[in-house]
Amino acid sequence: MSVITTNLGFPRIGPRRELKTALEAYWAGKSDAPALLDTARVLRAATWDRQKALGLDIVPSGDFSLYDQVLDTSIMVGAIPAIYRPLGAAGSLDVYFAMARGHQPGASEEGCGHGHGRSTDVPAQEMTKWFDTNYHYMVPEVGATQHFILSSTKVIDEYREAKALGHESRPVLLGPVSWLLLAKSTDGRTRPLSLLPALLPVYIEVLRRLQAAGAEWVQIDEPALVLDLDAEAKAAFGTAYASLAQEIPGLRILIATYFGALGDNLDIAMGLPVAGLHVDLVRAPEQLDDVAAKAPADMLLSLGVVDGRNIWKSDLTAILDRIEPIARSRRVLAIAPSCSLLHTPIDLALETRLDPQVKNWMAFAVQKIEELSVLAKALNQGRSSVAAALADNARAVAGRRASPLVHDPRVRSRMEALTANWTRRVTPFAERIVQQRALLGLPPLPTTTIGSFPQTAEVRKARAAHGKGELDDASYTRFLREETERAVRWQEEIGIDVLVHGEFERNDMVQYFGEQLAGFAFTRAGWVQSYGSRCVRPPIIYGDVSRPRPMTVEWWAYAQSLTDRPMKGMLTGPVTILQWSFVRDDQPRSDTCRQIALAIRDEVVDLERAGARIIQIDEAALREGLPLRRADWQAYLDWAVEAFRISASGVQPQTQIHTHMCYSEFNDIIVAIGAMDADVISIETARSKMELLDAFADYRYPNEIGPGVYDIHSPRVPAREEMVDLLIKAGERLSTGQLWVNPDCGLKTRKWEDVKPALVHMVEAAKSARAFL
Ligand code: GLN
Ligand code: ZN
Repeated sequence: MSVITTNLGFPRIGPRRELKTALEAYWAGKSDAPALLDTARVLRAATWDRQKALGLDIVPSGDFSLYDQVLDTSIMVGAIPAIYRPLGAAGSLDVYFAMARGHQPGASEEGCGHGHGRSTDVPAQEMTKWFDTNYHYMVPEVGATQHFILSSTKVIDEYREAKALGHESRPVLLGPVSWLLLAKSTDGRTRPLSLLPALLPVYIEVLRRLQAAGAEWVQIDEPALVLDLDAEAKAAFGTAYASLAQEIPGLRILIATYFGALGDNLDIAMGLPVAGLHVDLVRAPEQLDDVAAKAPADMLLSLGVVDGRNIWKSDLTAILDRIEPIARSRRVLAIAPSCSLLHTPIDLALETRLDPQVKNWMAFAVQKIEELSVLAKALNQGRSSVAAALADNARAVAGRRASPLVHDPRVRSRMEALTANWTRRVTPFAERIVQQRALLGLPPLPTTTIGSFPQTAEVRKARAAHGKGELDDASYTRFLREETERAVRWQEEIGIDVLVHGEFERNDMVQYFGEQLAGFAFTRAGWVQSYGSRCVRPPIIYGDVSRPRPMTVEWWAYAQSLTDRPMKGMLTGPVTILQWSFVRDDQPRSDTCRQIALAIRDEVVDLERAGARIIQIDEAALREGLPLRRADWQAYLDWAVEAFRISASGVQPQTQIHTHMCYSEFNDIIVAIGAMDADVISIETARSKMELLDAFADYRYPNEIGPGVYDIHSPRVPAREEMVDLLIKAGERLSTGQLWVNPDCGLKTRKWEDVKPALVHMVEAAKSARAFL
């Protein structure tokens, strides 16, 4: 037997975000294509060298991308919609970046911070989340007359590039079936999967060329194999791989699956005429026995044993215990991260400010490859050959398990004392709303905003200066108070009914809270690509979560002191904080979520005590937390809704709880939204012309609701009449008495010069709608 180490993909942004810098300089016209491509080449070379030096047997190639690997695939197969074609040759950077970001170079990134949406003359392709990660890909577009033709040799070029540098790499491609399943049809009729026969010849050509260039193995990612698939999709795998195997005999294909169990698709995967199969044993450890039993003897199994989605050290001994018997029973075995390391930060060694104890529990991409090397050595030469490394690892794992930094007895006992009473408001909505209306005295169709006002260059500059110690606390606070006061005065002036303080003091809607909660750590350089050049540094939840002291009360109280109108308290909800962080893996996510919920509940209660009559708890990420398989949805929704309710249920009936969700697909979660029982929910609806409200109408959503009437993803200022029109449409679906008037989402990415007229129009629209609705 022999065990080899492989990797499915490495982060491409660079340890110091070199690619981001190069891309943004290029987009801003401050550098040229050769400079950008040179940075990219240097990064690729460094990445291959580094992985090799870390002991990786088989390095991937083609995993690099200037923007997105799905977009790379779309270009490769020539799925370039007509609007982009006049901009240049199919393989040109102009076309590539036009598809990625719209065609005006230097156009600013817009959206709600975690989202997308840019408006330019030629719009970008749609962007959406990659499976259940926080990475976004560009949605491929195909139409009835789709003609596929090899339009980029990137993957072949990069294979050759690696070879020239002395690395025999394994090229990575996104598979034809998954690519089609991710695609949308431009005409709304063509089923993308029906285009498989037309698409395959391009893959065949690519694979032939790779083989001719010397590739023995190719990794083809088919993550769709972990999804619920209909019969047509299931059949497509057989068709696709039979054809590839037949046309390119001798080339060895490894199908990579990740993010979940193969489940009912296991037999399909096993039956494919391919040489290897990668499975995710971090997300789905239980599939190992089945996989090992069913894998043909000559199939190379690649076991994803190291977590590619999180930052914790592996328990190497536990992994060895599990896979030693499998390794003994097979001639060759590959071990790898569970999925591409794209979803982890690059190098823990760059973290100089983490608590050394906590840091010792972590592994970033580089450290994960080191773990693989240790595992392989233990499997090939016996555990004693790496005794010291295994002992170190065991100490770190045991230390974490027992650490008082992780376990807070007060949080524990609070969790144990939690009863059903904590998960529901004492009074039903129908009675609460009467009391709330009496207290608030708002007009029908009350106007409000979602929370943030423009984070101008000035605001960001002041924050950066304060962070660097160049601006002292007092001056920074004074600056923020002035910004807040200006925002409050202006809202009063234009006649908004329920005000917000503007969130100028917040860097990010999750980080701001994480920094004030116990159990969270923050990295200096733990960047993870979100999309294109955009990276995030997710907080790390390492221990029991609690709230040592109030987080937002002072800012809220200051803002409320400036006005008689109700000022909303503004919080991020437990599910969203969980969803946008690296979460501890030593207890169920639901437990961690419940702890965060208790911490937010404390804040809600303190805000109420300070006098807040309305408190908004944003759950922007509730829907994106839905598991990949439908069978797992209900369990998730149960604990997610419960967490929200814990956070919201500590207040008196007359205190009004709002929530906000900034997307668009509500059908799957409408029952859960009902169960959240927020007094008011604001949602994104402007672009859908209120059609999204159908889900709420069909469900007869009883509570109050603010369907967004102002699409904040674009600098365009909507006219008063448009918003009146949207309100009429909303009124056709729900009762007018239920409705609030607000934008789609927060306004932090917008400019005041767009926001001001738009909100003036919004208030006018509400006023005129009140007259006749
Ligand atoms: N209160 C937040 C804001 O206004 C909500 C943003 C969001 O849900 N994405 O920015
Ligand atoms: Zn939003």
